[in-house]
Amino acid sequence: MSAMYPNLLQPLDLGFTQLKNRVLMGSMHTGLEEDKAGLHKLAAFYQERVKGGVGLIVTGGVSPNLRGRLHPFSAEFSKPKHAQAHQVVTDAVHEHGGKIALQLLHAGRYAMHPFSQSASAIKAPIARFAPSEMSVRQIKSTISDFANSAKLAQSAGYDGVEVMGSEGYLINQFICKRTNVRYDEWGGEYQNRIRFPLEIVKAIRAEVGEQFIIIFRLSMLDLVEEGSSFQEVVELAKALEKAGVTIINTGIGWHEARIPTIATQVPRGAFSWVTEQVKPHVNVPIVTCNRINTPEDAERILASGQADMVSMARPLLADPHFVLKAEQQQPKLINTCIGCNQACLDNVFKGQRATCMVNPFACYETELTLEAASQSQVVAVVGAGPAGLACATTLAERGYQVDLFDRADRIGGQFRLAMQIPGKEEFRETIRYFANRIEQTGVRLHLDTEVNADMLRDYDHIVMATGVTPREIQIDGLENSPKVIDYQTLIKEKTPVGDKIAIIGAGGIGVDVASMITEPNEHQLDDWLYEWGIDKTLTHPGGLYPYPDEASDKQVWLLQRRKGRVGKGPGKTTGWIHKRTLEKRGVHLLGGVEYQKIDQHGLHLVQNGKAQCLDVDTIVICAGQESVRSFEHRWDEFGEKLHVIGGADYAGELDAVRAIRQGVELALNL
Ligand code: NAP
Ligand code: SF4
Repeated sequence: MSAMYPNLLQPLDLGFTQLKNRVLMGSMHTGLEEDKAGLHKLAAFYQERVKGGVGLIVTGGVSPNLRGRLHPFSAEFSKPKHAQAHQVVTDAVHEHGGKIALQLLHAGRYAMHPFSQSASAIKAPIARFAPSEMSVRQIKSTISDFANSAKLAQSAGYDGVEVMGSEGYLINQFICKRTNVRYDEWGGEYQNRIRFPLEIVKAIRAEVGEQFIIIFRLSMLDLVEEGSSFQEVVELAKALEKAGVTIINTGIGWHEARIPTIATQVPRGAFSWVTEQVKPHVNVPIVTCNRINTPEDAERILASGQADMVSMARPLLADPHFVLKAEQQQPKLINTCIGCNQACLDNVFKGQRATCMVNPFACYETELTLEAASQSQVVAVVGAGPAGLACATTLAERGYQVDLFDRADRIGGQFRLAMQIPGKEEFRETIRYFANRIEQTGVRLHLDTEVNADMLRDYDHIVMATGVTPREIQIDGLENSPKVIDYQTLIKEKTPVGDKIAIIGAGGIGVDVASMITEPNEHQLDDWLYEWGIDKTLTHPGGLYPYPDEASDKQVWLLQRRKGRVGKGPGKTTGWIHKRTLEKRGVHLLGGVEYQKIDQHGLHLVQNGKAQCLDVDTIVICAGQESVRSFEHRWDEFGEKLHVIGGADYAGELDAVRAIRQGVELALNL
């Protein structure tokens, strides 16, 4: 056992079986579940995590019947053929001594098809279709379907199942008044509303016997109106234990909740205190989750007795060998999940395969493989931003001799700016990871070095990863105005701004700058819980407390020329958080503007045909970027030896997912 993480690496005895440590890989849909050849890829994906030491894996959710599918083509697990197909997954996991549970998820009213069902016929605010109310016969057959799926999971070799009872899915919809207005024995009083989950657990236990793990994902904090009270959560936890669950896992927030629960701006371990409140009331092991991404945080949570296990999903996407590195006392080599959602959840919501911004190998284990280079060649990588770092370290790992140059005095490129935005501090972890990878792989780093074409002549390959620079724009009076500053200078030099600020450009960076300028001074967890109206006393149902929004002292205008919504930024699953944050802080979001001129009075613009002058003291330019293509006029001299990646290749819609992936793919194919 590691002296650094004695609690995290301690085995957990479940009586009939033992888990080798306290890390549960939380359920996460990857998009491979429905792919034709997907289960083989999924098997490789999980196998890599088992090799990396995880104690227990929970798969992405599969439906116990047709109507419970989230999407028309989502995975179902109800027939022997499904069990047969999944054997490749369980075999891969067991081959390396791992354990895996299948998550059973009935979407209820969240289903994206017209056959959705729920406790009552109340449409979800985030769903397209209204559900039909389940008849008593349908309720009973759904309970049998859960039991049938669990039995099939057992026959497929799974070590257990997780019953998805949180995040606002069907079981949660039975539990809460918000979605259950039935008058029969499945609705009304709380005892009636929890009958459905309890009957499911009892039916599963009867089918699978005693020696099979049943995890119940219990919604401990619904974060929606008319959610469960804390007393009700405790009552259900105790009843679940009696009904035969082996482990209780924590669920925080329904999908329709308007409070962030996993995005990067959520403080680390922000909800472990909720699990801690439930823990004394049950005897089965209890798991906590949400924004736990380092072994230090996991150890602290376990050591303080808040939970018996920690669940991490995205951190194991980012680094399959997270646990192994903790065991080897090498946390500095962990590729930390930065909570961006940009390649995992954003992809899944777009119907694409999940992967990871900082680890493009995730979910591509069978396709992106790292082979030793056939001959050791010397490569120059120019630019130590995300693309250059990913490329240089992957090349060095393959056996190339790599010189990595940057004109700055440290590595990180655009990530160095991002990490200075409040709520994006996690980007610092990626820079720390690459700094250690440079050392580990033997990349020769040359900082403070302005490269020219002559210096590169003798290399076998030259990779230009020189990144981007802020776009210069034309507005009358901009050039000579002392009010104007570009975002890079503002963030880097922490330039003080006045009380009234206009931001030109409402892309990801404009949104970040607006959020940075209006950030409250207090940064403790309780301040964050307060800002989002989360009731830490657990005296309000659903854990919601209607704190009033507190506008910032600063007056900020976020502007774009395009008509339509302003302030969401590019993130599919995080855009609403940005917009809500800015609205709460009173930022003026203006679209469809035409910039006229800048003078001593401020920024003159026209919106909806109406001219106005924003009387501002600072104007921040966040109008996108242009590629930096140093000594481009001499690139022809390098012929096929030259490769251009990241922002230097294409600055439009640049994001770090593309930059890092391009860097890795080039390094694998050189
Ligand atoms: P961006 O997303 O391309 O946005 C540029 C903004 O500037 C747009 O709102 C555009 O709006 C405006 N603009 C463009 N040309 C202009 C001109 N000539 N005059 C005035 N306004 C102009 O670029 P970015 O905000 O710099 O972000 C760069 C990349 O970084 C993004 O693509 C994103 O992937 C990444 N990023 C992501 C996040 C995240 O949270 N996921 C955060 C930050 C950055 P109009 O043309 O409508 O005026
Ligand atoms: Fe974490 Fe971002 Fe990777 Fe998702 S894409 S696993 S949030 S680092």
